[in-house]
Amino acid sequence: MNLSELAQYIGDEEKAEQALLELGILKRYTVCPFCGDNRIGRVRRSKFKCYRCNKEWGVRRGSILEGMKIPFTKFLMAIKLFELETSVRESAKQLGLAYNTVYHLNQTLRHAIVIIGTNNQSYSGEIEMDESYFGGRRKGNRGRGAAGKVPVFGILERGGKVTVEVVPDVKWDTLLELAIKKVKRGSLIYTDRFRSYNGLVSYGFKHRRIDHGKRFANGKVYINGIEGFWSFAKERLMKYHGVNPLKFPFYLKELEFRYNHRDTDLFNDLLQVLVGYSLVACTE
Ligand SMILES: [Zn+2]
Repeated sequence: MNLSELAQYIGDEEKAEQALLELGILKRYTVCPFCGDNRIGRVRRSKFKCYRCNKEWGVRRGSILEGMKIPFTKFLMAIKLFELETSVRESAKQLGLAYNTVYHLNQTLRHAIVIIGTNNQSYSGEIEMDESYFGGRRKGNRGRGAAGKVPVFGILERGGKVTVEVVPDVKWDTLLELAIKKVKRGSLIYTDRFRSYNGLVSYGFKHRRIDHGKRFANGKVYINGIEGFWSFAKERLMKYHGVNPLKFPFYLKELEFRYNHRDTDLFNDLLQVLVGYSLVACTE
């Protein structure tokens, strides 16, 4: 959805509310949430009322928007700005909202991505695996001397999706466990010559190693796909000037989501993630 389509979609506050109701991000009550009676109606712009128990509730009740002080139009615009990778500071300025309001909304989106948006399907066919280090200033050796850096393991299905995960270390059993969990036996796995990838064959995988020195010389034996993801992620994380290590896994999953949805309408994909998240997070 481009900006002019978005303006049409959002319309005014009433139309935006309708859109959120239809999506299921706002909760539609057919009975009173207090007594269960179905004699309910709208009494004011943003209030519903039960004619049996006389209790009232707001349109945001039971939704992720409950407690968020943001008009529905701006809520949808903020998602668009998140899609466009606008900084919190700039989004707050463009929307006329407090920094913390936008920050909280963006964190909700990231949380929703982690819970709903990460793909759990198993991979098969031609797979690339690699590890990389994030954060820290020093260039360290693999596994040793990489203090202060966060090791991340990545699995990419060629022509498909990528999965990345923060790992405690890059020992062979750590990586192997994730490979077994994610990749179907019999798949062909490409890695570089790092010793932690020894033994993939004895667990039922086919395995080819690339030689970094002459990677372009041997046809299909390369790991350019997963290396492409590392540059994609690192380029974007530079903007944050160092992410809080506790929040890093959330940013990483956001980048995985962006990469896996690079060919689809990201705004719509984010809305769908929020729809799924609403079902899990709001259980009333
Ligand atoms: Zn009632």
